[in-house]
Amino acid sequence: AKYVYDFTEGNRHLKDLLGGKGANLAEMTNLGLPVPPGFTITTEACRHYLTEGSEPDGLEQEVAEHLEALEARMGRSLGQADDPLLVSVRSGAKFSMPGMMETVLNIGLNDESVHGLAKQAGGNERFAWDSYRRLIQMFGKTVLGIDGDRFEHALDAVKGGRQDTDLDAGELQRLVDTFKGIVCEETGKDFPTDPREQMRLAVMAVFDSWNAPRAILYRRQERIPADLGTAVNIVAMVFGNVGSDSGTGVAFTRDPGSGQQGIYGDYLQNAQGEDVVAGIRNTIPLEELERIDKRSYDELLAIMETLENHYKDLCDIEFTIERGKLWMLQTRVGKRTAAAAFRIATQLVDQGLITLDEAVTRVTGDQLAQLMFPRFDGGADKHKIAKGMNASPGAAVGKAVFSSARAVELSEQGEDVILVRRETNPDDLAGMIAARGILTSRGGKTSHAAVVARGMGKTCVCGAEELEVDTRQGRFTAPGGVVVSEGDVISIDGTSGEIYLGEVPVVDSAVVEYFEGAQPDDDLVKAVDRLMSHADQARRLGVRANADTPEDAARARRFGAQGIGLCRTEHMFLGERRQLVEDLVLATTDEERQAALDALEPLQKSDFIGIFQAMDGDPVTIRLIDPPLHEFLPDIVELSVKDATDEATKKDHKLLAAVKRLHEQNPMLGLRGVRLGLVIPGLFTMQVRAIAQAAKEVPGARPEIMIPLVAAVQELESVREEATKILAEVGVEALIGTMIEVPRAALTASQIAEAAEFFSFGTNDLTQMAWGFSRDDVEASFFSRYLDLGIFGVSPFETLDREGVGRLVEIAVQEGRSARPDLHLGICGEHGGDPDSIHFCHDVGLDYVSCSPFRIPVARLEAGRAAL
Ligand code: ADP
Ligand code: MG
Ligand code: MG
Repeated sequence: AKYVYDFTEGNRHLKDLLGGKGANLAEMTNLGLPVPPGFTITTEACRHYLTEGSEPDGLEQEVAEHLEALEARMGRSLGQADDPLLVSVRSGAKFSMPGMMETVLNIGLNDESVHGLAKQAGGNERFAWDSYRRLIQMFGKTVLGIDGDRFEHALDAVKGGRQDTDLDAGELQRLVDTFKGIVCEETGKDFPTDPREQMRLAVMAVFDSWNAPRAILYRRQERIPADLGTAVNIVAMVFGNVGSDSGTGVAFTRDPGSGQQGIYGDYLQNAQGEDVVAGIRNTIPLEELERIDKRSYDELLAIMETLENHYKDLCDIEFTIERGKLWMLQTRVGKRTAAAAFRIATQLVDQGLITLDEAVTRVTGDQLAQLMFPRFDGGADKHKIAKGMNASPGAAVGKAVFSSARAVELSEQGEDVILVRRETNPDDLAGMIAARGILTSRGGKTSHAAVVARGMGKTCVCGAEELEVDTRQGRFTAPGGVVVSEGDVISIDGTSGEIYLGEVPVVDSAVVEYFEGAQPDDDLVKAVDRLMSHADQARRLGVRANADTPEDAARARRFGAQGIGLCRTEHMFLGERRQLVEDLVLATTDEERQAALDALEPLQKSDFIGIFQAMDGDPVTIRLIDPPLHEFLPDIVELSVKDATDEATKKDHKLLAAVKRLHEQNPMLGLRGVRLGLVIPGLFTMQVRAIAQAAKEVPGARPEIMIPLVAAVQELESVREEATKILAEVGVEALIGTMIEVPRAALTASQIAEAAEFFSFGTNDLTQMAWGFSRDDVEASFFSRYLDLGIFGVSPFETLDREGVGRLVEIAVQEGRSARPDLHLGICGEHGGDPDSIHFCHDVGLDYVSCSPFRIPVARLEAGRAAL
């Protein structure tokens, strides 16, 4: 295998092999942009290293050859004493994992080459020693595993309140000695001075960083597969820390927050690499670069335009200016907020860069769901205490906490928290995940907090410089002397950047108002409208709702549902009606039972009338009663306790006896669904009669009667026969079909289809039974272990397991359709609202998906994306 690619050999389509960073560095190189030369070690080499514990054969040789070619091209060799070539060794996986893995800069410096570097820079000793101390610091932390604070504290001690740029050559040289001392103390060895050895160790450290705890956590959060590995990029160093005519920055081709076109970025003079993101010093807005170095600025803007036109999308970039010469160090199609995603997709259509089809595929159901989150009520009384940058939108309310650990702790106790930090770093990841929102006092829109929060779709306000954050004391001070301590509730608005004391009430988002029927007025809602209309035109899948009440049904319809795919009837047995169910269960004679059923029937009928009316002629799939009967009876423990007292009535004794009789070891696999209908005479017929009579009263009603938990066609036939009789009696037509949720039903679908006009896949039960998992029990007990072990990447209850459960669905679809070509097919499990699962439903040829009313727009969009 070939393990190393020069930048001139790769391109942006090779992300699997070269990682995103490497593939895009190659792409920029081949576009003729000023990228320092370098090469990429493939993810395949990393995977080999991680699984076999050693580098693959031939890698060392290939790296040596590429390094020699690089040295020849640069006219200097790695770490050459009088004129050194220095390189960076950079991680870069297929999917961007901001700051989660490692990068080491200035590889090749040692006690000799540091002088050569100073000479190269026209005798700039300060710069050379600054670069050297950075190498030892980064190398010490990431390659040698020394606690970074040890270096930070030593640096702080020398700075004594000054900026790092205020240190002179002598101080930096002494710092190098101190740092070397730390390395020796911590590892028992001297800092490695052989440049090739430095490089080799750094490469392995980058490989290893794939499995750093924070990288693992990030992957799990972002659902990135655990076995991809990272590529390693070796890049000739360019220097932003030579002086004030140098610097480093990051930029976006559009605002990743709003999608607005313009100039967005941060720049830091006399600085290297990570200083910008880390918030070491405060950055300046990119516009100011025009004043500092107009030529580089103009060139940068031209390059950004080239990149946008080339990638036809928002790009983010890293660049460095070395003594007036601009260098491009990274680009990628940038992460953006949900609102920006919708705006940018439509802007690009208007610019003629992409088609509407393409635009629909550029936005996701998850992003749409984010736009449907509530926002703060503009009319409410608020106590605004400060304003920061609107880094990632949303309205978050919670108790202020000042450490990642505390955020995790409190959120595990069920509290909503806002993580407040001066700036975040990759170690804060767990806290950021646990928090409702993130607030920082330093760093711009490209800071770690902002980038990671946007990626997670989490509310974030960053760079609120008016705040004095004291994480040690656990409090911050806002202008006017307002002090917020740990546990005090604050509200942060990631859309405006505003920070409020106390809890601010929330209201529907503009996008929800639009789905509710409001005219699109602002440009975001217009973009949503445009892309949704196009998705609706494109999709083949119908979208229905799971709704049990007229209110839910009506909302679902406003949101675009084309029918109800699952109307559960069990709630119709709760509340005051529980009494009647108790009577039904306790009945000892046919008369008693019939009396209970007769009392329930008109109540059910009026429920159905409400739903048929709300759906106004659209189909309504009604599932006959499904759960075990004892779910409607009092709790066995309570009854037993009461039974032992004097208060217990005769009925209580009877109830307890009934509950004991109905008690099951595995209720999920017990007397429920169609089994109930076959065992309790009159129960299903009562429900069918109520449906038929309701349908008769609502003109245009289209009932579909759905029998749950069928495993054998005989069960269905028997219910069907009775139901058909009743429908005929009342004089109403309805489809009769079944859920496919028992594996046996899927496997005998051709028989079942003989008795069913439709199938609806009940993928919750189907998943439980296919895996043999009880959903209520396993998610809390061992799923996280299974996720760690990579047995599945996502819970099969969240995203339909294509290989197993999906296979059952596929069989049932094929067999069912061949037995009955006009068989109507849908899904009503939780998966009906999950983007990946919706794509599966499209692929397998279902007619519709059904999901909760609030997910309807998401399902419409994803169904459109699946078809494009
Ligand atoms: P990350 O993936 O965390 O952004 P990078 O590999 O991009 O890590 O590197 C960290 C920082 O170092 C970035 O700001 C990058 O631009 C800078 N950098 C990387 N390689 C070089 C180089 N060869 N010369 C100058 N700066 C570099
Ligand atoms: Mg980077
Ligand atoms: Mg079920």
